[in-house]
Amino acid sequence: MDFDYDDQNIFAKILRGEIPNRTVYENDYALAFEDIAPQAPVHVLVIPKGAYVSLDHFALEASADEQVGFMQAIAEVCKIADLKDGFRGISNTRAHGLQEVPHYHMHILGGRPLGPILV
Ligand code: IMP
Repeated sequence: MDFDYDDQNIFAKILRGEIPNRTVYENDYALAFEDIAPQAPVHVLVIPKGAYVSLDHFALEASADEQVGFMQAIAEVCKIADLKDGFRGISNTRAHGLQEVPHYHMHILGGRPLGPILV
């Protein structure tokens, strides 16, 4: 499968500093920031700094360092946001997953009991 990355997507602009964000955590490989339209008391988006369109693109082509750095960022967000009672990680992917922004991102949702996932 071809993964064509559009470098004009909004998260690419955030990574380049062209659009402001409310950063929660950052390391060499990932940036975590507050979602602009939160769906829960905690709603953070974790994105890789590399140009990956989706979870499967990232899993197939990102280096081990990038993948570890990304997962470490998620773990740090969970600590910073005090998600010890649990959370939900969601990665909407392409059309069937209703992905709006074509730069891989993991939604981290928590801060209250969440409802069932609706399909
Ligand atoms: P998707 O459907 O998984 O692609 O969700 C994209 C998410 O990005 C949505 O939850 C939006 O609220 C969020 N979003 C879009 N633009 C911005 C922004 O500029 N800053 C933070 N979050 C954004």
